[in-house]
Amino acid sequence: MNIINALKGTHDILPAEVYKWQYVEEKIRQITKRYRYEEIRVPIFEYTELFARGVGDTTDVVQKEMYTFDDKGGRSLTLRPEGTAGVVRSFLEHGMFADALPKKLYYNITCYRNEKPQAGRYREFRQFGVEAFGTEDPSLDAEIIAMVVSLLKELGLKNLAVNINSIGCPKCRKTYNDKLREYLRPNYDRLCDTCKTRFEKNPLRILDCKADICKEIGKDAPVLIDNICEECADHFEKLKEELGVQGIEYVINKSIVRGLDYYTKTVFEITSDSLGAQSTVCGGGRYDGLVEELGGNPIPGIGFAMGLERLIMCMDAEGVYMGERGKTDIFVATLGEDARKFSVGFVKKLRDNGIAAEKDYMGRGLKAQMKYADKTGSKYSVVLGDNEIEQGKCSLKNMETGDTQELTFDEIVDKLKKPKG
Ligand code: ATP
Ligand code: MG
Repeated sequence: MNIINALKGTHDILPAEVYKWQYVEEKIRQITKRYRYEEIRVPIFEYTELFARGVGDTTDVVQKEMYTFDDKGGRSLTLRPEGTAGVVRSFLEHGMFADALPKKLYYNITCYRNEKPQAGRYREFRQFGVEAFGTEDPSLDAEIIAMVVSLLKELGLKNLAVNINSIGCPKCRKTYNDKLREYLRPNYDRLCDTCKTRFEKNPLRILDCKADICKEIGKDAPVLIDNICEECADHFEKLKEELGVQGIEYVINKSIVRGLDYYTKTVFEITSDSLGAQSTVCGGGRYDGLVEELGGNPIPGIGFAMGLERLIMCMDAEGVYMGERGKTDIFVATLGEDARKFSVGFVKKLRDNGIAAEKDYMGRGLKAQMKYADKTGSKYSVVLGDNEIEQGKCSLKNMETGDTQELTFDEIVDKLKKPKG
């Protein structure tokens, strides 16, 4: 029979590289703790309507990329294409708006989008994201950007650019949308079909379209940041000021629109050029209208999401430290049946004392056991035979230096003992 392969656009994270992921995840845990973001875990699937409303039905994600299916009860469900909508749902469902605000949450999740697979673009991919609810204060915008920049720096990345922009509020967007429609109208017939549907409902989205023709048509369009209201302009000034105070370098990129519908005021993207072409590692922004859109009171919020596959690709490309594959502390080799039996209890004792210990299970001869110890990366080894068991001690060998030391079994445990973890 044929074996069945993984689906196109999905990928396995094998033991040979999972340590990189664990390294990144640990750094995420550390930095979110310092900034007091708490982890939240939300379901992989939700009602389709949540994403249609929360992500916005003029977006690429909702129009083209969602994995949607009917369950047996005939309800339309969707695999989460992103994290924010589910987190906002949970925030409302559990009344977190009554907790001390701002509520600062982070997640580390898989996402599902039916896109054309290519480098850095998968159908199942992973995102680290944060969401903070409860204030419009630009200080929070600046803090979130500072946090993600610190994370990327602490991960050792260098070729980064922080792009910020403001896309205003519904008030300034209304006037701007009229202006933009006027600009686009002469070329309406040449827009892609998706953008034709965006023209009335959300023309701003046209400026984020990936189709060449729409890019060309939109290239000299009026930009939102030149048309924002006083309140939004003031918010943006304060954001820049607080980024400055924290020593964060940034560029103002007037063309950032962001793919999702719910953004207001601050939007930002962090790009890296270490993969050749410019690649967006992280995107985020403020979404003051989203909680209301999903049925809550008007509670402002801000967040970002970082694509972890792209992040790890950048780290690989820049050759930065990404942790190491886990090693065994000690390999217990045996000669003869008595020693084999004894080793079962000895290995258990080692493990109970926090030591990573391994033995043979394949009935190998001594030479083959040592080869296996080498392959699986043991720091130390011992060889137990009748003599060792009789005398209650053996020779502990450092596999790297070749040094040996004569110790009792208890002394070996004491020497290698660690807190369990
Ligand atoms: P893009 O413009 O690259 O399609 P996007 O605007 O759709 O990105 P977001 O929805 O903001 O992306 O998601 C945040 C981050 O998640 C992106 O910056 C990227 O790093 C990552 N990401 C998005 N889609 C994919 C995918 N299909 N595969 C891998 N990573 C992805
Ligand atoms: Mg996309």
